[in-house]
Amino acid sequence: MSMDDALAAVLAQAARVDAFDTLDTFDADGRVLWADAVSDLQVPPLDNSAMDGYAVRCADITEAGVLLPVSQRIAAGQVGEPLAAGTAARIFTGAPVPPGADAIVMQEDTESVDGRVRITAVPRAEQWIRRAGEDIAKGSTILKAGTRLNPAALGLLASIGLGKVQVARKPRVAIFSTGDELVMPGDVLPKDMPPGSIYNSNRFFLRALLMRLGCEVNDCGIVPDNREATLKVMQDAAAGNDLIVSTAGVSVGEEDHVKPAVEQLGELNLWKISMKPGKPFAFGKVRREAGSSAHFMGLPGNPVSSFVTFLMMVRPFVLRLQGVENVAPRALYAPADFDLKKPDARREFLRVRLNEQGALELFGNQSSGVLTSAVWGDGLVDNPAMNIVKKGDVVRFIPMSELLQ
Ligand code: AMP
Ligand code: MG
Repeated sequence: MSMDDALAAVLAQAARVDAFDTLDTFDADGRVLWADAVSDLQVPPLDNSAMDGYAVRCADITEAGVLLPVSQRIAAGQVGEPLAAGTAARIFTGAPVPPGADAIVMQEDTESVDGRVRITAVPRAEQWIRRAGEDIAKGSTILKAGTRLNPAALGLLASIGLGKVQVARKPRVAIFSTGDELVMPGDVLPKDMPPGSIYNSNRFFLRALLMRLGCEVNDCGIVPDNREATLKVMQDAAAGNDLIVSTAGVSVGEEDHVKPAVEQLGELNLWKISMKPGKPFAFGKVRREAGSSAHFMGLPGNPVSSFVTFLMMVRPFVLRLQGVENVAPRALYAPADFDLKKPDARREFLRVRLNEQGALELFGNQSSGVLTSAVWGDGLVDNPAMNIVKKGDVVRFIPMSELLQ
């Protein structure tokens, strides 16, 4: 199955969560707007000065060197009187422009001469005036429902007076790791590792990735490779979560218990997705007692496969659960600084790094067990199946900065 088809099938099931949270705007970074944000006022609210200087009438200044009496002083937060013809008003950045003035002369183009001001440069009408409403018109939608809020968006919401904001509630996501070989860092010292065991690394990045994506993570720990334990964790996880994400045990080996468990409790599609790293990916539902169901996604066990499959499948899904429309990561195009003579029969996501020259360097070991590649790399080259790459070829690059937030 192609990755695009798999993703489309998955997204078709991702209905938005059923409720919103009302948060202080301060606390809404990374969350997704529930309803359009419409401005009840214009921004800026009044015509105001963009400079420290003097508000003037251009008609009074036909040549450089004109001397004008200073009739008033307007600081930010004050409102002045209409500007009398033949006078200037001392004004500061952000202060309202007095009626009658049609330009601001910046302080650097003036000399103060006992109570009067000499204008040393002829002003252009409108200069250094920020007109009311030039940022935001009253009644306009500044951010649409489904927008993921970033720091600049928080500032924009504040600029129209929103101290609180409605955002999609956090999707509740249960995670668990299957595998009898797994032990937890911290529980077992490296020198005490039983033969055949490995540390559970997937659990760490899954949790962190989900948290960055605005999810509440309910970690169900490590589940041993047997039918009963797998059934039990699935049922418990389905009860209180929107989505269950597991790693490993989704192949068709005898030690893979995820597939039969989900089939017993709900529905499962096990796909061989044409992507590398990746390939085995399970998607389905686990029924709850109430009759509704939780979504299920089973990721491969190998750390890099698990990581990349998460970025390509789970990331868009959990964003869509929050109402984000455009969930595709943005890509750039850059020249390869490597040769790929033997491309894979699957679409491949190569771990690469953008160098100072703007070219992409390939990490030496692209094996799906080598997690070092995902840390070294600052992005993925999205290479089509069977596509040979020669140094200098322009390739599609997805920066990690797009994927990890
Ligand atoms: P499986 O899908 O169960 O066949 O696992 C594939 C590979 O991934 C095996 O080498 C596992 O030991 C490894 N693996 C599975 N789960 C994890 C995990 N949570 N952390 C690190 N490696 C894992
Ligand atoms: Mg296993």
